[in-house]
Amino acid sequence: MKITVLGSCAAWPEPGRACAGFLVEHGGFRLVMDLGFGTLPRLLALCPNGSVDAVVVTHRHSDHCVDLNGLLRVRHYGERAHDPIPLLCPPGVAELVDALEPEPRLAELFDVLPLPGTHKVGPFEVRGIELPHHVPNVGIRLTTAHRTVAYTGDTGPSEDLVELGRSADLYIMDATLQHQPDGPRTVLSAAEAGQWATRAGARRLLLTHFWPGNDRGVSLRQAAEHYDGELMAADEGLVVDLGRR
Ligand SMILES: [Zn+2]
Repeated sequence: MKITVLGSCAAWPEPGRACAGFLVEHGGFRLVMDLGFGTLPRLLALCPNGSVDAVVVTHRHSDHCVDLNGLLRVRHYGERAHDPIPLLCPPGVAELVDALEPEPRLAELFDVLPLPGTHKVGPFEVRGIELPHHVPNVGIRLTTAHRTVAYTGDTGPSEDLVELGRSADLYIMDATLQHQPDGPRTVLSAAEAGQWATRAGARRLLLTHFWPGNDRGVSLRQAAEHYDGELMAADEGLVVDLGRR
């Protein structure tokens, strides 16, 4: 299984970067998780004509889903006709993309499947767990016979982060902040990402969703104070190879 970072920024993309997006490839099947600002050109470089097999979107914030409209256009107006592919997402995502452009409807090109919930998609079991955010956000747990990848989307602290990333080969966690404000929150700090990854027993931690301008080296050091496993910072084009199985 191979994971390629399409984008690593929170909120809006730094110059030359993109917002949330990951391509997950296993056994020839290509699944994309989130399609924030600027991810589509990077996806098309890897999957010409938008030839992916499934899309999973964590929530309806534009930094996680706005380039779904671009993928819709590629698959509608592009070089070859496509059969509909699964689009797994919580309420609000399809409505947002349809509001951007009413024709063609998203449902004409995608089979929309609801999250939270569990679905079999190609070689993956895709499980979505609701996590706290400004709008409904679903953490994603992708499982094959031998590998597990978990991804928080965009979340505040929650005990469910232990279950989401339990013993995962790779835990992709938003590390938006470099401080921890008091009171209820809907995003995580880098230190908290380290703490939750440790509690989950995740083998590798990939920090992502950095607030624009944040020094990522600082985020890595903050997470490393709480996590002893393999620790990485997402970077556009970074490939994490979890091996053949
Ligand atoms: Zn968000």
